[in-house]
Amino acid sequence: MALGRADLILFDGCFISPEQGKVIASAVAVKDGVILALGEEADIKCFVGPGTRIFDLEGRAVLPGFSDAHIHGLALGRSLGWADLSGARSISELVEALKAHAARLRAGDWIVGFGWDHEKLEERRPPDKRDLDRVSAERPVVVFRKCYHLCAVNSAALKALGRERLAELFASGEALLGPDGEPTGILVERGLEAVREVMPKLDKRGTLEAVRRAIEEALSKGLTCLHWIVEGPEELSAIMALRASGQLKIRLYLLFPPHMLEHLLALGLRSGFGDPWVRIGGLKLLLDGSLGARTAYLREPYADDPDNRGRLLYSEGELRELALKAHETGLQLAIHAIGDGAIELVLKVLAELPGGPGRMRHRIEHASVLDPGLIKAMASLGVVASVQPHFIISDFWVEERLGPSRARWVYPFKSLLKAGVVLAAGSDAPVEPVDPLKGLAAAVGEVQRPEERLSLWEAVGAYTYGPAYASFQEGAAGSLGPGKMADFTVLSCGPDELKPDSLPDVRVDATFVFGRLAYSRGELPEF
Ligand SMILES: [Zn+2]
Repeated sequence: MALGRADLILFDGCFISPEQGKVIASAVAVKDGVILALGEEADIKCFVGPGTRIFDLEGRAVLPGFSDAHIHGLALGRSLGWADLSGARSISELVEALKAHAARLRAGDWIVGFGWDHEKLEERRPPDKRDLDRVSAERPVVVFRKCYHLCAVNSAALKALGRERLAELFASGEALLGPDGEPTGILVERGLEAVREVMPKLDKRGTLEAVRRAIEEALSKGLTCLHWIVEGPEELSAIMALRASGQLKIRLYLLFPPHMLEHLLALGLRSGFGDPWVRIGGLKLLLDGSLGARTAYLREPYADDPDNRGRLLYSEGELRELALKAHETGLQLAIHAIGDGAIELVLKVLAELPGGPGRMRHRIEHASVLDPGLIKAMASLGVVASVQPHFIISDFWVEERLGPSRARWVYPFKSLLKAGVVLAAGSDAPVEPVDPLKGLAAAVGEVQRPEERLSLWEAVGAYTYGPAYASFQEGAAGSLGPGKMADFTVLSCGPDELKPDSLPDVRVDATFVFGRLAYSRGELPEF
């Protein structure tokens, strides 16, 4: 029998199928990025040829490659160059961390931090202009709350925004005034956009470096495919340059912002166009804000802010028009909706789409505050839930915001699965850590309420099969089998140690993407 020779053979591994919840093979042969055969060493030996790379996995557990269904790639790459304030316990700690960071920057750079959460600060309030003026009186300082729906800036940054823009933001309530009528330096929603507009832009080289940094970071966490939320054309150029020179290393499914929709339409681009490395995904829309900043749009007011229901960033009519345009062209919709009011509106609009929404696998990003009725509607419309399990850990204050009866239905992953909704898990990095193992631990761990806790294999499925389904790739990726893409996440433990309690000790030892070794933590023994 004439057999194809493999480019790559992995042996002495424990290849786990999350669907079957067990080890299904110890060796695999790969050619041209695709699995030729899976089986025992004896079955795979015949694929060895003169040019075959052969790795010994020494008994390690191997999963189908992880995917991240929701990642802000450029922002992640950019933030890897900013001050990480997620560990700050008080405003003075935050100020000191920024000062230390500023000392490493070039003169003229803005001093930027991210990741703080005022719920974790001793003062239980966001930092303000006066706090940040202590970091620098002359250089602009910006600190993004971990949700990226609220930020605080110093006086120099307020000045950079300009009088006119600030007046608009005060009028819309997106730049906050203190009781003394003075700007506090706190901005929400479109206020952040305004800040980003005046921040110095990354140049071409900086953008390429940020894209590359984000990809390296993701590979080191075992990720093989990212649903990458695009900000603009500059990062696309960087992605295409990496693709052209064979340096992309990770597979991307691109989700585009509304300001690029007309261009996609003009070119007639549809979801799924591309190749295994780069594919056109869909249109990403932001319909509401976050629970953290109390800007997610709820049906009833916030429990801890009785006059506030959050806000919608599009009217029903605007949303319908955008959704229809995308749907009719064959572009998938990925709509950020966190509050139950926003989710209800998305479902209403999707239900009215010609031919129904199911065929396009439209997605709700986050889908945080649900109830049994909304879950049922998602299932019957075939809408994908693009969820971020690590929010379970980060939103520890959720009961305060929503009260116990609504909090019961926040991140109800098990109920979604039971209803037949496909769960596509992701990180929302840099908002949350870009680490599927942390997300898995959250989905199966103690912090999740028991009735909504996933089994380990259900959770792994949400990081493998789920994103593959959500990107129309489940026939080719997201599981193990002959003909499937050779995307593998190699763990530091064996299959018996892969348990909910031991997840914090598990590391990623190697990542193979489309048949290539894209990351390894140490040396993998090669023959
Ligand atoms: Zn996001």
